Amino acid sequence: MTKTFAWVATAPHTPLERRELQIDEPHTDEVRVRMVASGVCHTDAIVRDQWYPTPLPAVLGHEGAGVVEAVGASVTNVAPGDHVLLSFSSCGLCDLCQRGKPAYCRDFFGRNFGGRRGDGSSSYVGDEGVVSSHFFGQSSFAELANVPARCLVKVPESAPLEMLAPLGCGIQTGTGAVLNRLDPEAGSSIAIFGAGAVGDSAILGAVIAGCSTIIAVDVIPERLKLARELGATHTVNSREVDTLEAIHGITGGLGVQYAVDTTGIPSVFRVMTDALSTLGHGVLVGAAALGVEATIDIGSRLPVGITVSTVVEGDSVPASFIPLLIEMYQQGRFPFDRLIRQYPLDEINQAFADSEAGTTLKPVVVF
Ligand code: NAD
Repeated sequence: MTKTFAWVATAPHTPLERRELQIDEPHTDEVRVRMVASGVCHTDAIVRDQWYPTPLPAVLGHEGAGVVEAVGASVTNVAPGDHVLLSFSSCGLCDLCQRGKPAYCRDFFGRNFGGRRGDGSSSYVGDEGVVSSHFFGQSSFAELANVPARCLVKVPESAPLEMLAPLGCGIQTGTGAVLNRLDPEAGSSIAIFGAGAVGDSAILGAVIAGCSTIIAVDVIPERLKLARELGATHTVNSREVDTLEAIHGITGGLGVQYAVDTTGIPSVFRVMTDALSTLGHGVLVGAAALGVEATIDIGSRLPVGITVSTVVEGDSVPASFIPLLIEMYQQGRFPFDRLIRQYPLDEINQAFADSEAGTTLKPVVVF
């Protein structure tokens, strides 16, 4: 056991607490990472609030970036001193992992939300007992974390870890939903519902794909302004106008060929499906609490042959998709850094609050 510290979620709707913990030794397939930075994602907030049943107390955080300190006996992909980004966990063995779909790993929920390793152990123990670890395989709101080697993406030492941290979840989710799942052809139309960190990443993906009509929908004027700067050709404030009418107005009454709902709000999902043109494809990315239902007008939607799908982590294979995003960032074609605001680690609860208030798009806490 080694002494460390972490910011721990203790109860729903309650600020994280800084606690001294003990961390166990990395298992044979794990890597001990010393964290340098971590993004804060909406998913951390909804798990703190127990939309998903990760046992509390828990070390959350799943957009980690850091330096490898030690490796387990069977680890071959990284060595001590390597700089790494952390992404979601998958088993690598099930049929879906074997088919190159790790975001749909048969054990995705257990590995990412279970708060324990597969053998039932947790890395962390505090004065009051066991604290959940391995959130998305990593629990990056800790100084030290034991992370399955499959979660790691090695990056050059010159790469700015404080900037790249959010690529491991929110950014790859939005961009991947567009590039990997929708794969829109150049000149096509797309609507992105919600211009937060995930929605803006989807806009950047739409620009890369060459969509000629990119409609950003949100309720916060400043977010719509930034969406336009990132490449949205049209913006719709759904508090001020009827969104469906606005989209039909922009698209000559046809609707959009592609759409992404990053809000997870049933009424927004309904508008997304109504806004799809014939043979259109819309994806749901935004999370909702277990049991939340949304409607779809099967009467009017049947004859137009639409596709509606759900996407996890942008269908990404992190080891190949994240380096691609870094390359496009370095080329100036993927300016995701415009979404980021950095906070010292001890302001982590302010980072959560600013994200919730809509004043910060993508907080990154720096250790
Ligand atoms: P965010 O809060 O920054 O963005 C959501 C945006 O939706 C905000 O800008 C908000 O103003 C806007 N919004 C709210 N109500 C609206 C309405 N009625 N119409 C239009 N826009 C509205 O959150 P984020 O970090 O961008 O994450 C988005 C969602 O994606 C979250 O639910 C998160 O949990 C989820 N997520 C899913 C995956 C996945 O694998 N599917 C991965 C990461 C995040």
